[in-house]
Amino acid sequence: MSKNLTSRAEDYSKWYNELVVKADLAENSAVRGCMVIKPYGYAIWEKMQAELDRMFKETGHQNAYFPLFVPKSLFEAEEKNAEGFAKECAVVTHYRLQNDPDNPGKLRVDPEAKLEEELVVRPTSEAIIWSTYKGWIQSYRDLPILINQWANVVRWEMRTRLFLRTAEFLWQEGHTAHATKAEAVAEAKQMNDVYAEFAENFMAIPVIKGVKTESERFAGAIDTYCIEALMQDGKALQAGTSHFLGQNFAKAFDVKFTNNEGKLDYVWATSWGVSTRLVGALIMTHSDDKGLVLPPNLAPFQVVIVPIYKTDEQLEVITEKAKGIIKELKSLGISCKLDARTTHRPGAKFAQHELQGVPLRIAIGQRDIDNGTVELARRDTLTKDVIGMTDLVSKVELLLKTIQDELFSKAIKFRDTHTTEVDDFETFKTVLETKTGFISAHWDGTAETEQKIKELTKATIRCIPMDVKKEAGKCVYTGNPSTNRVLFAKAY
Ligand code: AMP
Repeated sequence: MSKNLTSRAEDYSKWYNELVVKADLAENSAVRGCMVIKPYGYAIWEKMQAELDRMFKETGHQNAYFPLFVPKSLFEAEEKNAEGFAKECAVVTHYRLQNDPDNPGKLRVDPEAKLEEELVVRPTSEAIIWSTYKGWIQSYRDLPILINQWANVVRWEMRTRLFLRTAEFLWQEGHTAHATKAEAVAEAKQMNDVYAEFAENFMAIPVIKGVKTESERFAGAIDTYCIEALMQDGKALQAGTSHFLGQNFAKAFDVKFTNNEGKLDYVWATSWGVSTRLVGALIMTHSDDKGLVLPPNLAPFQVVIVPIYKTDEQLEVITEKAKGIIKELKSLGISCKLDARTTHRPGAKFAQHELQGVPLRIAIGQRDIDNGTVELARRDTLTKDVIGMTDLVSKVELLLKTIQDELFSKAIKFRDTHTTEVDDFETFKTVLETKTGFISAHWDGTAETEQKIKELTKATIRCIPMDVKKEAGKCVYTGNPSTNRVLFAKAY
């Protein structure tokens, strides 16, 4: 298989799909829309999980686990949520197969084994969790409940793409219960802030924090907060969401508590989630025509050492040297791998590590051993330097920080140069066709206008930014009065 990728300029979508497969992150499976996450891709997800999990625990949350199946009657209870997800639900109707008498060697569903009540494979877990919380909450003393679960969910998506939108995906979903509205709103906002902090500090992806319009809101939510990122093709990606659910689920599942004044009230709720989509966001933000570019904070290993040798003796000497370097880097918390495979030539190793986005590569040959040097190469800038062995470890430590920071600055610069303030509809359409990216424009606040703009341009309102300025203006489409700008974009 050729290692050359289709370029981004030639076909962005093809570039992405090829990169995911060739960098050994994931592949399509026998089930349409479901992916196999390969070890290298899963290692990136594990790094994301570890940091997010740490952040959730730091903000007082605990992990728990709820079942995959939701009895249909429970699923139906919160009507808006059920209606919103109904079209994407996989449903279990039978619990047994049997030999097919008409087709030897084949199996069929046993008609005798029909479930009394159909089971929905969770597209999200509010229903199962709130039906459980009913038994856990009686008084204000039982609140708040701050729970997260790491799980898979299934949404029968029609148009799928590896990581970005799959029918089954891995995610975390937080589900919290509170005594007051103010507390629940604060929780939903806090978790959106946690997502933003993670995206920016860890993934080096700048995000806009905002709130969704009614038509883009989570089914069953009062408000959906979100983080929106911009990909290199100028399309936006919803990278995470946090919902203020009001008392909708408490009412649907009759979850009441006695408050500190002795009065009975419904419990207030939030839910929040990010998924394996984040791996797609990472790829689409930083990678280039040579392959993956990983921010050091999320790279499965941050440094690779490739020995350049002719004889076994040379390999032995270089390996000894490399082991010393790895030990020193490890003591600084830097992960480093020695690629001592004798089955691959150095050129092939270089190409593979470039394709897989290892942030730093150290090459050591006999001449380096003689001179006390190494060759150090950066994946993000594709630059290399010969440096003295004595400076190596401190240089690596510094460079990893530099790479992390520079990837973030580069992404901010891209986002800023692809965000345009627009005041008339002609320019709106031109910008979408030429420059793409975010458009900041006035909107009259109606769902009709939002829908009309979507039909005409495919652009949707990504969010109303949290830090939006109040300014009198006219809707970019209808000319009706508006009090602030909102962010439009074509989106994944
Ligand atoms: P939601 O429960 O709809 O708010 O979704 C929570 C998060 O999961 C969203 O912010 C997305 O980033 C992500 N997500 C939603 N649908 C998919 C999908 N089909 N594949 C991967 N990630 C998804």
